[in-house]
Amino acid sequence: MLNKKSINDINVKGKRVLVRCDFNVPLIDGKITDENRITAALPTLKKLIADGARLILCSHLGKPKGPDPAASLAPVAKRLGEHLGLEVKFLDCDTVVCDDCREKIAQLKDGEVAMLQNTRFRAEEGKNEDSFSKDLASIADIYVNDAFGSAHRAHCSTVGVTKFVAETAVGYLMQKELDFLGNAVENPVRPFVAILGGAKVSDKILVINKLLDKVDKLIVGGGMAYTFFAAKGYGVGTSLLEKDRIEDAKAIMAKAQEKGIELLLPVDTVVAKEFAKDAEHKTVSSDNIEDGYMGLDIGEKTREIFSEAIKQAKTVIWNGPMGVFEFPSFAKGTLALAKVLAELDATTIIGGGDSAAAVNQLGYGDQMTHISTGGGASLEFLEGKELPGVVAVKDK
Ligand code: AMP
Repeated sequence: MLNKKSINDINVKGKRVLVRCDFNVPLIDGKITDENRITAALPTLKKLIADGARLILCSHLGKPKGPDPAASLAPVAKRLGEHLGLEVKFLDCDTVVCDDCREKIAQLKDGEVAMLQNTRFRAEEGKNEDSFSKDLASIADIYVNDAFGSAHRAHCSTVGVTKFVAETAVGYLMQKELDFLGNAVENPVRPFVAILGGAKVSDKILVINKLLDKVDKLIVGGGMAYTFFAAKGYGVGTSLLEKDRIEDAKAIMAKAQEKGIELLLPVDTVVAKEFAKDAEHKTVSSDNIEDGYMGLDIGEKTREIFSEAIKQAKTVIWNGPMGVFEFPSFAKGTLALAKVLAELDATTIIGGGDSAAAVNQLGYGDQMTHISTGGGASLEFLEGKELPGVVAVKDK
């Protein structure tokens, strides 16, 4: 287990504490459409405020290439202030840290909170260049990383800054993510079932391989399944197919067989002639997808088989939807599994990104044991990789 210094191990009273949060929330016309990442940061921020820290928050938002008002963190500062019941002083500055910002930070009193502008307004951020790391460090006595969703990236605000701040720690959200994901994989209560779906085999090949060494059953659905069908010699019509991954799919099936791990693939598939919300559709057996048809969801028999397989589990990790859940006609597979997981007496862990969005959108979010806030980060962690943003924080 990781043994990183946490915010329980440091004295923050009267200190300037720079907290790297993951406030990369979806914004439409300046409105936050999903504030899970804001509420997920609250326990850490409340603890630090109660302990008398002078907080300076930072985060990236979207992928701006320099200063861009559409990627401003201003709406996040406002909404966060409402959640905390205090003013979050937003330091709206194109260079993120300037003399005016420094002055305002110097005036912060214990328990007060300021927020910097989007770290990606600075070109150095993604390149982890010292100039910006030093600017960030210059306004802090202590650095806290609570941005699990960005921990797989070595940027100034996640890694570089730690070189120039004496004291570092992880926040509660980071700790919780590492504990849940780490424990599930290293000490799972069995049976341990992994469900993998989503669009691409190539994105998940490493995690499948790693999980095959740990799980009792592996369920594969979503767009990924068609590359496995091709590996079995089935026609897949116009379904998603990664031809250069067919050999990988064969190797995965062989490894599962060799290890005696049940690998479940969809036995039937909902197909349509076009990728569209209202596309006319029908269900066919997985080895009978006609030319001109694409698979967009798992079929009814598969829903039953997968549900039964999950019902016996005591630990479940789920990453990637079973179909194009964004279209209600093709969300039934994802919905069925979300429902089973919600009712299960087991540890249920949802990888971030689209799986988290699907479970929340379908209304089952609060019935899962843990929903990761990091899509890419949770995948890399499950693959067994060290996350640079975690490595950079000092051990206890
Ligand atoms: P990922 O980010 O790899 O987890 O992929 C999530 C995306 O996969 C979602 O946007 C789904 O709509 C998409 N997806 C799932 N199943 C299919 C499918 N059968 N065909 C095309 N896209 C799919």
